[in-house]
Amino acid sequence: MPPRKIIHIDMDAFYASVEQRDNPALRGRPVAVGHGAKRGVVAAASYEARAFGVRSAMPSITAMRQCAELVFVPPRFEVYRAVSRQIRAIFERYTPLIEPLSLDEAYLDVTADLRRLQTAFATAKEIRACILKETGLTASAGISYNKFLAKLASSQRKPNGQFVITPEMGPDFIASLPVAKFHGVGPVTAAKMQRLGIQTGADLRAKSLVFLQQHFGKSAAWYLGIANGEDDRLVVADRPRKSSGSETTFERDLTASEEIEAGIEAMAADVWAWCENAKAFGRTVTVKVKFADFHQVTRSRSFSMAIARHDLLRQASVELVRTVLPTAKGIRLLGVTVSNFDQAPMNASDELPLFDAVEGVMPEPDATSGATPAGVG
Ligand SMILES: [Mg+2]
Repeated sequence: MPPRKIIHIDMDAFYASVEQRDNPALRGRPVAVGHGAKRGVVAAASYEARAFGVRSAMPSITAMRQCAELVFVPPRFEVYRAVSRQIRAIFERYTPLIEPLSLDEAYLDVTADLRRLQTAFATAKEIRACILKETGLTASAGISYNKFLAKLASSQRKPNGQFVITPEMGPDFIASLPVAKFHGVGPVTAAKMQRLGIQTGADLRAKSLVFLQQHFGKSAAWYLGIANGEDDRLVVADRPRKSSGSETTFERDLTASEEIEAGIEAMAADVWAWCENAKAFGRTVTVKVKFADFHQVTRSRSFSMAIARHDLLRQASVELVRTVLPTAKGIRLLGVTVSNFDQAPMNASDELPLFDAVEGVMPEPDATSGATPAGVG
């Protein structure tokens, strides 16, 4: 079989770029999308802000310490969603095989080459040009023969660039790559690999499946596969959703109750924006908490009627998280999910802006702990 042609498109500093596009006074300035209040969290940072070390999922207080002239802009999810739909419409000119990872990221399978552009590189270039022309925003692209490599490739020439990893280049590219950069290898696994003398893709490849199974169980085959540049996962065109959730892994563990509650409120706002847009209101809200030691708990509450107001969702979410507060253990991840919809979401293709671009199919037990909050990269 000839190699597949996969493109990973990733908008550059998406929310922040939209804000700078719509407000010229913000251009060239360090911008954080999020609430600058004492309990706020940065949802996205412009490149000017990143130069100061400001990152998404960082508490606003920390961000302000990093950068005194940081400008906070409240998020406008409805605008981001509208832009996301515009981008989606551009993708559809090139392929029906579109798998969104978040509002600003998607995999495209362009093996069929509907536009007869000959190479996926040319297709990616045209898509990025259309995005710029029609939205005024830049995107980066990674092009390769599987999803794993395409995603790695898209970060190589950021912002406003693209990079291809051919089947010939794949094995060498992975050989020199630190394992911590592998999608699906979280900090805990990376540290464990390092203790076993595995620093790079080449080190990983040199180990036997049996050895890796002893240390990593079921994930071993996946690790060995990607170390050899093999990833058979298909680009799955989006399917109807049964639940909708948002979660964030924080840069540093949260311990203060008010910070944790603020984090949950931000997740609830995110989920609410999706519910409103999709006109889908669920009866059950679930809060997920992952502690610094990776112990994880979920708390759920179901109502007799759909949660059809933002304040109800926020209140229920906060009450659920309070059942684990105060906590002496730090919290590394918070999530809110709504499920039990009265009717199927109308706009099933609208994905939530997951700040962690986490893929459900990863066999990795700490896949949700990716070192970089990627979704808004
Ligand atoms: Mg991005």
